[in-house]
Amino acid sequence: MPARLLDGVAVGQAIRASMRPEVEAFTREAGRPPGIALVLVGNDGGSELYVGSKMKSAGESGIRADLERLPATASIDDLLRLVDRLNRSDVHDGILVQSPLPKEMGADAERRVFDAIDPAKDVDGFHPTNVGRLVQGRASLVACTPSGIIEMLDRSNIEIAGTRAVVIGRSDIVGKPMALLLLNRHATVTVCHSRTKDLPAVAREADILVAALGRPGFVTKDFVKPGATVIDVGTTPVSDRAVIERLFAPGHRRLAAFEKRGSLVLGDVHPEVEEVAGALTPVPGGVGPLTIAMLLKNTVRAAQDRLRARG
Ligand code: NAP
Repeated sequence: MPARLLDGVAVGQAIRASMRPEVEAFTREAGRPPGIALVLVGNDGGSELYVGSKMKSAGESGIRADLERLPATASIDDLLRLVDRLNRSDVHDGILVQSPLPKEMGADAERRVFDAIDPAKDVDGFHPTNVGRLVQGRASLVACTPSGIIEMLDRSNIEIAGTRAVVIGRSDIVGKPMALLLLNRHATVTVCHSRTKDLPAVAREADILVAALGRPGFVTKDFVKPGATVIDVGTTPVSDRAVIERLFAPGHRRLAAFEKRGSLVLGDVHPEVEEVAGALTPVPGGVGPLTIAMLLKNTVRAAQDRLRARG
C-alpha cells in the first residue's frame, strides 16, 4: 500500500489559524500587533523569494513585518549595527537575518550575527542561549524547520514517545535541533552523518526517519523499514535532466512539471520510498510550508514572552 502523504500545506494553514486568537489577544493587550523585522543583505534571488513569502504570510496572520535591506557591499559592522538597533526596537519582537550572507562578510559572519541577536527576539532559534535551553528541554524559541516537523507528527497523530528515530544530517539548523526535539519527546534517537558506517542498516531501524542531507533521492527503499514514517527535509533545485530521469519513472507526475519549468526542487528521499513507508512528507508541499508557519508562531511567542517580562 502506498504511503500516506503528510500534507504540509494543510498543517501550515492549521498552525496559522490556531494562532489567530493569540495574535488578536496580544494586539488588544499591547496596543500593537506582534512584529518581526526581516533583514535582507544584497539581492540574491532565492533569498528575495523566501523573504517575500515570509512577509506575505506574516501580513495575512495579522503580524507586522518590516523589511530591512542592506546593499551587498555592506560590511559585517553595518549589519551588526542594524541588529543592535532592532534589538532595542519596541515594535519588533522577532529578528530574522536571511541567509546566506554575502561571502565578502567573512566565513564567520552568520555565526557573529546570530550571536548578536537578542535571544528574546531570536525567532530562528539559532542563538546559543536558545540552543542551550533546547538541550535542557525548556526552550521557548526553537529552530523552525524541526519544530514544524514535530507539529506535523503531532497533528498527524504519529506517536513519538517510545519510537526509534533516526536523523540523517547533523547541521545546527536542522539535524541537531531535530534530534533534541525527538529526544525531549521520548524517542530513542540516532544521529547519522557523512561518516556513519552502514547507513542504510542504521536507518532501517527507524520508526521515524528524518532525511536532512541536501542530496536528492539519496534515501532509497533500502533505508526504510516497511511502515516507517519518513520526513523529507531536503530541498535541492535540480535542472539536470539525467538526474531527474534517473529518479522518476516514465509517466511520473513530476516529469510533466520538469518539462514545463526546466527544473525541479527535489527532496532527499527517492520516489520509490512511497511504496514502503507508512507515511511520507512530499517535496514540495511537506516540510517547507511548516517552516514559515513556525517562524510566525515563534514571533507570537516572543511577543507574548516580552510582554509578560515587562509585567
Ligand atoms: P547541511 O548544513 O549541508 O548539512 C547536511 C548534513 O547532511 C551534514 O550533517 C552532512 O554530514 C550530512 N550528509 C551529507 N552527505 C551525507 C551522506 N552521504 N551520508 C550521510 N550524511 C550526509 O544542510 P542543512 O542546512 O541541514 O539542510 C539539509 C537539507 O534540508 C538541504 O537540502 C536544505 O536545503 C534543506 N532545508 C529545507 C528546509 C525547509 O524548510 N524545507 C529548511 C532547512 C533546510 P557531515 O556533518 O558529516 O558533513
